[in-house]
Formats: sequence, structure tokens, C-alpha cells
Amino acid sequence: MSELTITGARVIDLRFPTSREAIGSDAVNKDPDYSAAYCILETNQGLRGYGLTFTLGRGTDLCVLALQYLSHFAVGWTLESITSDFAGFCRQVTGDTQYRWLGPEKGVVHLAAAALINAVWDLYARAEQKPLWRLLAEMPAEQIAGAIDFSYITDVLRPEEAVELLRDRERGMAERVRQLERDGYPAYTTSVGWFGYSDERIAQLAHEALAEGWTHFKLKVGGESGEDLRRARMVREKIGPDAKLMMDANQKWDVDEAIRRTRQLAEVGLWWMEEPTSPDDILGHARIRRETGVRIATGEHCQNRVIFKQLMQAGAIDVAQIDSCRLAGVNENLAVILMAAKFGIPVCPHAGGVGLCEMVQHLSVFDFLRASATLEDRVTEFVDHLHEHFVDPVRMRRGRYLLPDQPGYSTEIKPETLAMYSFPDGPAWRDKQ
Ligand SMILES: [Mg+2]
Repeated sequence: MSELTITGARVIDLRFPTSREAIGSDAVNKDPDYSAAYCILETNQGLRGYGLTFTLGRGTDLCVLALQYLSHFAVGWTLESITSDFAGFCRQVTGDTQYRWLGPEKGVVHLAAAALINAVWDLYARAEQKPLWRLLAEMPAEQIAGAIDFSYITDVLRPEEAVELLRDRERGMAERVRQLERDGYPAYTTSVGWFGYSDERIAQLAHEALAEGWTHFKLKVGGESGEDLRRARMVREKIGPDAKLMMDANQKWDVDEAIRRTRQLAEVGLWWMEEPTSPDDILGHARIRRETGVRIATGEHCQNRVIFKQLMQAGAIDVAQIDSCRLAGVNENLAVILMAAKFGIPVCPHAGGVGLCEMVQHLSVFDFLRASATLEDRVTEFVDHLHEHFVDPVRMRRGRYLLPDQPGYSTEIKPETLAMYSFPDGPAWRDKQ
């Protein structure tokens, strides 16, 4: 049979009208319509690869345009020619001599790069007939390192150090796989505490989540200070003193206010404060962390590995919240996972949105198997929306992700969903215009 060759790319603007129910709402993103620029790679053998980047509605069309352009780097090439020099492929996609001006390695073009690169990984894992986590975990250390663009991070992590770390973690991996097969990977829920939810709804959802076995909960803050504290006390009372409670301000505050408000909210027992200020303010995060003594988390808006590197170097974060689509796909996430392992900083991926849970579960499992080798202080975000649209949705049990077992990156969306929610012509939108 001829070599597996990518023969075409279909790009779809997909939007779900989640803002109608305040799903996903926080102090800054008040009306998200969970959306995706979605990419289907076609091949000469009928096999397909599916990838996406996550957006909030308006602007998805910009990602779609960028994704259509960048897909030219994959179409016409064999899968093997891409994966045998994966870092080189990523450098092509993120380093186009004219497109690069729009970033570099940030914003719309980087989101689009993520969708394309994720689709290639999905295709790769399907071709190898393994779930992505297993494909990665079973790779030789040199091959994993060969997928990483080390540009701008060699001052903290050189390729040979990465290889050494990855090799070292081969020890005990079989036992860690058995542990995950038995127990799943620990998670926390954000679904109970969206900003736009009423007290009654939050109380009811917290009650249900406790009954389902959840032990880690996140509440959206960043409203009026008395109101935040009141809601925080209410949630703490509902979940009891032993459950872990995290709060997420979604970049709402300036640094001085973030310090004041974090100290105030710490009263209810705060496991971490997330995105207290601008995601670009590395020194601000460091100051908030230093002056509050509260663990600081950020990363869902961390635009590339360089910012993550600096957050770690500056002692600005306790938790690295990688995002499967904000960074340029699997490859750049590997870079951050390995830097975090070197710094001893837990990786607790950002998820929710469209398909983020489906993707990051693979990255968390890889982190445990081949990078950090520990579950201590590690929980992956879980949000219970839109999973029904995926062919291989996440499976949860008692607040844990069960190991994915289907080939691929769990990114395939059902055809009927694509028809219904395509923007602007799908019935979900056409009838609302
Ligand atoms: Mg967040």
C-alpha cells in the first residue's frame, strides 16, 4: 500500500449557543458561545485526523481563515515525513515567513496552529491504533524530544536534559499505567460555580457533585468583593472543610487589588487562586504569590512556552495550567510539561470549552507516565458540557478521568453536530438570525 498521505483539509466554524444559559461565564468572559475552529485532515487511505482550537464565538472565523492557510503545510505530505521531523514541522507552521509577523507564536495564528498540529497527532495516533497518551508514553525519549521545538527555552531545558528525564521515567511506568487503569486520573469540577449561576443553582450542583464523589471544586470570583466572599463561604459550607476549593478570577484584577482580594478570600481555605491578573504579567503573578502566601495558578491564556518558562523562572506560579489549544498543540505542551517536571511544578491542565477535557486527559496521563511520575497536587479540570458531541467522549468515575482506550486524540466530533452547529448556516444559528 502507498504511504499514508494527507490529501486535503476541511475547516469548519463550529459554535454552540452556550451563552443563552450562562454556561462558561466568569468575571471577564460574560457571554461565551463555546466554539471551535475545527479541522479534518483527509488522507489517501480513508483514515482521517481531527483537530480543533477552542474559541468563544465571535472571532472563530479569523481562526478558520488562519487554519485554512496553515493547513497547506500538511496537505500533500506523507504523515511519516511530518512525524519524523515533528519539531521541524512545528517550526514551519509557526514560522511562516510572512504569517509570523502576526504573532509570533501567539494569538489567532497560534490558536490555528494548535488545531492543525492537534489534527496531525490525532491522525498519527489513529494510524498507530493507539490512544494518544499511549503513543506518546511508549515513544523512545529521543523521539519525544525530537517533537519539541526547543527554540528560546534551552536556557532552562536542553534537548539532552529532556532525553535524560524522559528515559529516567521509563522506570516504573508499567506500574503507573496499572494505577491509572485501576483508579483513573484525578480531576476537579468547575461546573458547579459559574459566575452567572444563582445561589440555588450553585448549592444544588455542589450537593450533586459531592454525591458523585468529587473532592475538588472551583468557584468563579472577580465580582463585587462582599458578594465573592459570601458565595465563597456558601460553597465552603456546602462542600465541607475537607474538600479542596479553588477560585478563578479570570484576569479581573490589577496586581494590588488581586493581593487584597486573594488575602480576603483566603479566609475560606483556598487551594489555589487562578488567573488573578493579566496572563502576561509575570512579575505581577510573582508578587501576588509572594505577598499572599496563596498558591497561584495560571496558564490557560499563557500564549507560548516562553511565557511559561518565565513564570517558572520567576517563581510566579505553583500550578501550570497548560491548554491543549492555546499552546501550539501537543508538541509545545510537551515542552511545558517537561519544563514543569524540571522545576517540580504540578501541571493541572485547563479544560472545559469544546473538547478540551477530551484532549488534556491524554496530556495529563503522559505527564504522569513520562514526566512528573507523581499525582501529588495534580488534578485536571473537568467541565460537564458538550461531551455528547464527541465520538469518543471523556468517561468519568467518582471525580476521576478513566483512561481513554480508543485510537486517536479523542477529538472527532459527530457529523450531525457539525451539521447542526456550523456557523452561520447550521440550524442552531440559522433559525436565530
Ligand atoms: Mg480558568
